[in-house]
Amino acid sequence: MKKVTLIIPCFNEEESIPLLYKELSRVFSTVRDSYSFTMLFVDDGSTDQTLEIIKAVAARNSSVKYISFSRNFGKEAAMLAGMEYADGDYIGIIDADLQHSPDLIPGMLDALTIEGYDVAAARRTDRAGEGRVKSSLSGEFYKVFNRISDIKIDDNAQDYRIMKRKVVDALLEMKEVNRFSKGLFAYAGFKVKWFPHENQERAAGQTKWSIKGLARYAIDGILGLTTSPLRLSLYTGCVSVIAGLILALYGLIASIVSASVLSHMYALLLSALLFVGGLIMVFIGIAGEYLGRAFVEIKHRPVYIISETNAGKSVADLDF
Ligand code: UDP
Ligand code: MG
Repeated sequence: MKKVTLIIPCFNEEESIPLLYKELSRVFSTVRDSYSFTMLFVDDGSTDQTLEIIKAVAARNSSVKYISFSRNFGKEAAMLAGMEYADGDYIGIIDADLQHSPDLIPGMLDALTIEGYDVAAARRTDRAGEGRVKSSLSGEFYKVFNRISDIKIDDNAQDYRIMKRKVVDALLEMKEVNRFSKGLFAYAGFKVKWFPHENQERAAGQTKWSIKGLARYAIDGILGLTTSPLRLSLYTGCVSVIAGLILALYGLIASIVSASVLSHMYALLLSALLFVGGLIMVFIGIAGEYLGRAFVEIKHRPVYIISETNAGKSVADLDF
């Protein structure tokens, strides 16, 4: 019998959790003969009744575990904590808000057990229930990302997935503090079976993503996974050096042929100066971003801080 741990990142999901628990219990009961399930709720510093509700569920069902953060660290941190604490042979991630339909789970498990895949992941077929601005911005982001990065990310790939232990071990080997799971999943590789999945409306509550949060996520994604922007500065530098040489040559010839062309040259020179000066600032900025990130990484700060849990290590380590 395979052990399955399902990680559920939760940030202010007090209304969704009872609904999700009911749905998951219903789905689990259909495959109970072959699998044992643990739900691992990760309370990401919720300010509502989320933790109390998770605890109430855990009191009723011993296969419900939870980790509660000392503050909000973000979904990436919640997923990481879940993967570090999960002890299943198969480890899954599902959103708390029922946008990821639990009915996919039996099929996903079959893909791992019977069909020999390493990862069973949901792939969105539409973007219903999502703002138009958000979906077009995120579409653009993935287009840019895939153009500049060696690792290609499927725009529609979701975090909703079940993975074999070895995949999670590979993900945990990636120690970066600035985590961008979509990229890390793609980086890890393995045999993936995609499950087409229609976006569901949120069961309750609101999305935690603001445009500002998404922009930060996009920048983290690019800077965390590719150093192409640094190379871009090299290329642009070469182009501007060549342009400068051509301009100098033009100036030289023009000043020999006629004196009046010289006044145009000043304007041209000034605009070139401004343009190149601006470019240098931009690229120093980009280099600075990488440096800043390297600074954060070498501090080795924990990605999350746990305030309480009934899961894994901390319980096993207790001295009686
Ligand atoms: N989430 C989290 N920490 C956060 C933001 C979100 O753990 O800081 C959880 C949230 O509770 C949900 C999942 O991550 O279970 C997806 O979040 P949300 O539904 O807000 O994102 P969307 O579905 O709109 O992309
Ligand atoms: Mg959602």
